[in-house]
Amino acid sequence: MMNIGYTINNNLCTGCGICEGVCNKHAISIVTCSGTFRPQIDSTKCNDCGLCLRACAGAEMNLKEYSDSLFCDAGIKYDQYIGKYHQCYTGYSNDNDLRYHAASGGLTTQFLIWLLENDKIDGAVVTRFKKDAPYMVNTFVAKSKEELIESRSSKYAPVTHAKMLRLIKEAPGSRYVVVGVPCQIQSWRKAMKIDKDLCTKIIGLFGLYCSSSRTFNFTEYILKERNIDMKKLSYLSYRDNGCLGGLVAKGEDFSFYQDYQLYCHPLRSIFVPRRCLLCVDHYSELADVSFGDIHIEPYLDDKVGVNSVIVRNKYWKDLLEEVMKKGVITLDEINVEILNASQKSAKMKKDRNMRFVALNKALGYNIPQYGEIDKKGVDLKTIVQYVHNRIQQFIGSKRIFWFLIPLLKKKTKVV
Ligand SMILES: Cc1cc2nc3c(=O)[nH]c(=O)nc-3n(C[C@H](O)[C@H](O)[C@H](O)COP(=O)(O)OP(=O)(O)OC[C@H]3O[C@@H](n4cnc5c(N)ncnc54)[C@H](O)[C@@H]3O)c2cc1C
Repeated sequence: MMNIGYTINNNLCTGCGICEGVCNKHAISIVTCSGTFRPQIDSTKCNDCGLCLRACAGAEMNLKEYSDSLFCDAGIKYDQYIGKYHQCYTGYSNDNDLRYHAASGGLTTQFLIWLLENDKIDGAVVTRFKKDAPYMVNTFVAKSKEELIESRSSKYAPVTHAKMLRLIKEAPGSRYVVVGVPCQIQSWRKAMKIDKDLCTKIIGLFGLYCSSSRTFNFTEYILKERNIDMKKLSYLSYRDNGCLGGLVAKGEDFSFYQDYQLYCHPLRSIFVPRRCLLCVDHYSELADVSFGDIHIEPYLDDKVGVNSVIVRNKYWKDLLEEVMKKGVITLDEINVEILNASQKSAKMKKDRNMRFVALNKALGYNIPQYGEIDKKGVDLKTIVQYVHNRIQQFIGSKRIFWFLIPLLKKKTKVV
């Protein structure tokens, strides 16, 4: 099969939506399906040119080949989990309000605001909740400080970048930044390699670390479990009120808060999209700059918000340090050992998930092609872990089985 149908039929789709934008025939639309986003092909328009499949990181992504060609400044180093990197930092925005209401330390949003206000970029692809339905996420091109602030914090819901390629190509200016999770960043890289016009419009890809995404069912479940009527919501945030923070849900006559560790961690394996189990990129290895949390002492005591950051080329390193010198953000260098020790999911993705890939291959399924790193053995532990994860996912995907979730939650360790 020459088109994205291959990805859909083999459950390899990440829902990133990039295929919609690369299709010259407008034959692809992105729809919701099984709790996440999926492409749909109009066979009367498709000419099987294969562009969509070439841009699809869900089917094939040689991380090493791409990072070798992208990040080659003098002084570039390599780590098996982080990939290529120039420098790692911890830090936060010096604007306390922004820092408190952002996902981690607000560095992503603060850096974008500074870039925009200092005429370094024309806009940024980011995501915000829909005003009329604050449980739905909307991706758009932010061109003002206010829009960037609206987009802050993590969205634990499917996010698609469909329509963003065309929007960027048609937009005035040629200095756009895209913010996304690893699978989105990978597909943007592939699309930029195929489409030189797109390449000239984007000057940076900012990645988020990602242990896994969540299906639409996650939001529905957490609200239902707390007797919150989705239709009455006027504000929702998965990560508000400080470091890690928690769920904030507000309506006309109610206001709810619960710590991240209490509401989110116990459900992590239940509402994970199936494709995330085959993902091996935790740190957004193909991003120019990657942003995440830092889960290790002495940062665990922080109450406002702290980031860790990985910079992969000199251009962005110099800019980030310029913003620090202006007093807009705080940055401290850290070494990769501390960063990796703070991110247990990084090891899980490169080790456990790579074994899941090998298991799927052994079972005769088509798997994501990761090139050189495509080698891990399958043992009994892998099989047990995979079956356990798939059962949990199955329960999360079928509302009739949601009555079992409290039993599963008890067995989930809160870390
Ligand atoms: C699904 C998911 C899983 C994550 N897993 C981890 C993890 O395991 N470990 C870790 O350290 N960090 C993880 N992160 C990253 C972390 O939650 C913060 O997003 C990151 O530290 C940046 O914080 P900040 O305060 O700088 O960002 P903010 O200033 O709050 O800005 C966040 C930016 O990310 C964009 N964004 C938010 N959610 C999404 C999304 N789903 N897709 C695309 N863009 C989005 C927003 O529009 C905004 O531009 C995850 C994020 C997501 C979305």
